[in-house]
Amino acid sequence: MYLEKYDLKGRNAVVTGGGRAIGLACSTALAEAGAHVVIADRDANVCEEGKAELARLGYSADAIVLDVTDPDAVNAAADSLNAKFGAIDILVNNAGIARSGVAAEDVTDEHWLDVINVNLNGVFWCARAFGRAMLARQRGVIVNTGSMSGFISNKPQKQSFYNASKAAVHHLTRSLAGEWADRGVRVNAVAPTYIDTPLTRFGMEDPELNRIWLDMTPMHRVGQPHEIASVVLFLASDASSLMTGSIVLADGGYTVW
Ligand code: NDP
Repeated sequence: MYLEKYDLKGRNAVVTGGGRAIGLACSTALAEAGAHVVIADRDANVCEEGKAELARLGYSADAIVLDVTDPDAVNAAADSLNAKFGAIDILVNNAGIARSGVAAEDVTDEHWLDVINVNLNGVFWCARAFGRAMLARQRGVIVNTGSMSGFISNKPQKQSFYNASKAAVHHLTRSLAGEWADRGVRVNAVAPTYIDTPLTRFGMEDPELNRIWLDMTPMHRVGQPHEIASVVLFLASDASSLMTGSIVLADGGYTVW
């Protein structure tokens, strides 16, 4: 009775930024649970590499080139994928950028807008476009990728733009959850600590930064992409059927101090 709640056979999932790192781990977890996965990434090579990795593991996936900051492209992708597969049951809003290490007083307009555009606007455009079809069917699940940075401001690297964007993702998650809960659509978020991906390489390769990050983390380690993907799988599946508007921290204890 319990393990079958994780069974995603017959469901279609779209994972933005799904071709590498945390997104690829999410694509893999959903595919392993039986979902048909569509990787939506902005780089055609990353799309193909993600698809090839899933094929290597024995899962047939699709991939589309999609820039989540383009609302027209997002609407078109939602229409075409819903038409092609009958329904998109699961949306994982994972695409995000950090561009960390710029003091607030030095942030350019372009820098601020770029981060907000991908991390916040992109999540909204995708949730709105795929959510409409879910609402029409009265069934669907959206999992957003927030961050512990939506709860705390990181130290020592300066990244006010990123922290603000992720706090906004958390509140958008709760707002959509409230609007859509009685129409069959659940919306939750995962909030990771530092995860070993290209996004955090700047800190992991800097001994002093790395030391501070690990000192500040009760588990004294960073996470691996699969440790976020398993939370996303839980939130995407019926195992979390009573949850909506939850922001699930997977932070190695970072926020307990
Ligand atoms: P990566 O940079 O390794 O991967 C992100 C993927 O998203 C890349 O393939 C990237 O493509 C893609 N992407 C970026 N912008 C867009 C866009 N506009 N449209 C479509 N795809 C896009 O990041 P992570 O795997 O580390 O991060 C995934 C998510 O997890 C992000 O939302 C991030 O903020 C969040 N997160 C990560 C943490 C970490 O420590 N790694 C901690 C907390 C949260 P491209 O290479 O072309 O940019």
